[in-house]
Amino acid sequence: MAKVMAINAGSSSLKFKLYEMPSEEVLTSGIVEKIGHDDAIFTLKHNNEKINKILPIKDHAEAVKLMLDQLIENNIISSYDEIKATGHRIVQGGKYFSHSEIFTKDVEDKIESLIPLAPLHNAAHLIGYRAFKKILPDIGAVAVFDTAFHMSMEEEDYLFPIPYEYSEKYDIRRYGAHGTSHHYLALESQKYLKGISHPKIITCHIGSGASISAIKDYKCVATSMGLTPLGGIMMGTRTGDLDPSVMKYCCYCENKTAEEMFQIFNKKSGLLGVSGISNDSRDVLSAIEKGNKRAILAYKLFIRRICDFIGQYFVRLGGCDLIVFSAGIGENSPETRQMIIDGIKQSLKINIDEKINNELKGKEGLISTSESEIKVCVIPTDEEVMIARDTYNLLLKDKE
Ligand code: AMP
Repeated sequence: MAKVMAINAGSSSLKFKLYEMPSEEVLTSGIVEKIGHDDAIFTLKHNNEKINKILPIKDHAEAVKLMLDQLIENNIISSYDEIKATGHRIVQGGKYFSHSEIFTKDVEDKIESLIPLAPLHNAAHLIGYRAFKKILPDIGAVAVFDTAFHMSMEEEDYLFPIPYEYSEKYDIRRYGAHGTSHHYLALESQKYLKGISHPKIITCHIGSGASISAIKDYKCVATSMGLTPLGGIMMGTRTGDLDPSVMKYCCYCENKTAEEMFQIFNKKSGLLGVSGISNDSRDVLSAIEKGNKRAILAYKLFIRRICDFIGQYFVRLGGCDLIVFSAGIGENSPETRQMIIDGIKQSLKINIDEKINNELKGKEGLISTSESEIKVCVIPTDEEVMIARDTYNLLLKDKE
């Protein structure tokens, strides 16, 4: 048995989950927010209780130290060296990584070289990794990439039809995102696919960021997000796929630079931009109940784009055995799932049990009936356990 910590570092935050491995028991989890501020917030979840502290935290190294000291104070560990390894979420692995890797100087340099492709994320992940290295210098660390699962795509699925030399020179391609989640969902799907020799799965990770993947034989063949997480289906604040001339014409009409419009397409579009209400589907859904026309329109666009991708991937896979719903909206919003199914059920001969669907929130379960030609299920995603698993397998398994 060994304690492994899964980490997701942001520019001013540090999310952590401590596992006992290989049993995958969650010992504790928490988050440090507003790092670099005098009123930083530390939250620890332990034994169904939440411990909250507001205090000054200068940088990520101080956040790591505080967090470890709190684990000791709450009797979760007795000393720092009980933590045997750390696993770090890395959003962009570029062309270099098709699976998780033990951190070395070379891995660190490659993650750094990819910062232009994920400026906010990769830079922050490295700050987090270096903070842990400073406080826990003697243990190994593993990088787990959001893009790795999508590296099995074929050229015609990942290349964009721009001048080929751009793709070659600048490594421009569809990298996708949420790969760790789609991979987890594919593995968890196996229980619904017994006896099927070459399973075809469409995984719908629908949260504030959202992506859909087509998976054959548990390998990704297509995914909706693009060079960055702006592409694919419409999201809470992101446009998803657009005719590129929309960018040029909006810049011209609003007298804004491409960079300014890129920010607007990332942060002020999607459900928020169309509805003018919120990026949170709960707010948009309650406005729909009150008959708000823009909220209704925003959700119609959202659902239509999801349905279009599912249809596209049904064709791409040559059929489908299982559709999986996951993430904030996919797990918790039966009405959204119902709207999506309503949009595809006639063509794909899907039948769901409305009562089971309505009752399923934040839990796993099958929502299709036995008459449905495609099974449909809900699986709560778990990216952290994938990080802990890869970390344990790469660094500790052979030593135990
Ligand atoms: P995620 O990014 O996966 O954490 O998902 C967050 C999003 O899930 C929120 O912004 C909400 O839009 C959505 N969400 C969470 N709970 C519910 C719910 N009960 N009903 C509808 N949407 C929800």
